Amino acid sequence: MKEGWEAVIGMEIHAQLATETKIFCGCATSFGDEPNSNTCPVCLGLPGALPVLNERVVDLAAKAALALGLNINETSIFSRKNYFYPDLPKGYQISQYDKPFSSDGKLKILTAERDEGGHARNWQPMNIGITRMHLEEDAGKNVHEGLPDTDKYSYVDLNRAGTPLAEIVTEPDFRTSWQAYDYVNHVRRVLQWVGASEADMEKGNLRCEANVSVRKVGETEFRNKSELKNLNSVRFMQKAIEFEIDRQIKAHENGEEVSQETRLWDDNKNETRVMRSKENADDYRYFPEPDLQPLRVSAEFVERSKNEMPELPAAMMERFQDEYGLNFNDAAQLVAEKNLADFYEKTARISENPKASANWILTELMRELNNAGKTPSNSPVSPENLAELIKFIDSGKISGKQAKDVLIEMYSTKKTAEDIVSEQGLEQISDVEAIGKLVEEVMSNNSGQVEAYRGGNKKLLGFFVGQIMKASQGKANPKVVNEVLRDKL
Ligand code: ADP
Ligand code: MG
Ligand code: ZN
Repeated sequence: MKEGWEAVIGMEIHAQLATETKIFCGCATSFGDEPNSNTCPVCLGLPGALPVLNERVVDLAAKAALALGLNINETSIFSRKNYFYPDLPKGYQISQYDKPFSSDGKLKILTAERDEGGHARNWQPMNIGITRMHLEEDAGKNVHEGLPDTDKYSYVDLNRAGTPLAEIVTEPDFRTSWQAYDYVNHVRRVLQWVGASEADMEKGNLRCEANVSVRKVGETEFRNKSELKNLNSVRFMQKAIEFEIDRQIKAHENGEEVSQETRLWDDNKNETRVMRSKENADDYRYFPEPDLQPLRVSAEFVERSKNEMPELPAAMMERFQDEYGLNFNDAAQLVAEKNLADFYEKTARISENPKASANWILTELMRELNNAGKTPSNSPVSPENLAELIKFIDSGKISGKQAKDVLIEMYSTKKTAEDIVSEQGLEQISDVEAIGKLVEEVMSNNSGQVEAYRGGNKKLLGFFVGQIMKASQGKANPKVVNEVLRDKL
């Protein structure tokens, strides 16, 4: 960023809650069905149809709120947000306004600087104020056929109308695009972690908007902001914010006005452009939804939700470092996804070797999984089987080098380590007596070298080790070979 300037950024995220049915009716939320097939009088907005709140929405919203450090309000109110759009047949969206489901959150995230190549360095904790998380229904979808200005049709698909959303709004606490990037990834991961949302941006069930302004370092007031939309990935969002910061600084420096407006990110042109001006606050004429009761949640409900929460990634990451002695990077990588963290923990417990478990999973296993586009939850090698392999190495049954080949074989055949080791006769020879015999054999076949060694040519040790490994077809345990060899020489 240009010297003397700083950015001010606030984020709004819409996350689709992972229910099977819509927020105020029993229609399916499934994706990709025949247009307008998942609809009924309620989500079509037919006169006289009455909404009924889906209880599952409240369960998932509570989990999301707790995962984001928000307070769940005892009473929240649904309101009508009035506006016209073809994908909104009622002429209003049921949302929450002055009494949201949850508010006043404080969330700790980790954020890092990025070097030229975009690599993260120096991860640091940062506190973000979460203003509120409220509940609302999604609108339908307008589908436009053909190119703009050609004489084609537009369609309205209301399958998405009435899908439950949680809108999460932050304070303007971010100062860089990468902080906003790390925040969105954090939210995405915890929502998936607690099962509140699939939070998949590609499927559109997590959408984000960035509010951006700039000011001179030391200024206390905020300047006009723009709201960035059409951010289809976290990376595009980061780029859009970066572009917008530069654009606004240049405008201010040239004495041009930066107006309140909504801008769209164009990722072909790598720039933002105006969508609509926001000079005046939108007037949605909010009023309480007369067809729904205020939503009241009891203290017992909140308590129960808290008890049902899984350990969150931040806590798990700290525990992996304390309990298992992992370093920051390994622990951070292992909690990237709940599936992976659970896979790791099982392997570590069964193998009783947490460090080796982390290494095997993060290097050998993840490489195979990534190559095949798989995740730990559908890994052909189970935690139990990987743990057995690690135990074989620790007990000297096979070498680490052999184990790499065994793992690949386990991965492609789904056989256990035990089966592969015995089938291929890989078992390492660690028996001192058996190795002693090999040593003696090699020594009597190479009496010249033995004399030279004894005469002071200690370099020949490597020669003997090589001969013995060869005689054992690579199965002798090198550590034992060395010991026995030194002894006999
Ligand atoms: P709007 O009414 O335009 O939606 P809100 O006050 O609801 O604005 O804020 C929306 C988001 O914009 C919040 O995340 C908030 O933190 C952020 N925000 C508000 N003012 C600014 C500003 N001047 N610069 C950057 N972000 C801002
Ligand atoms: Mg807004
Ligand atoms: Zn419906």
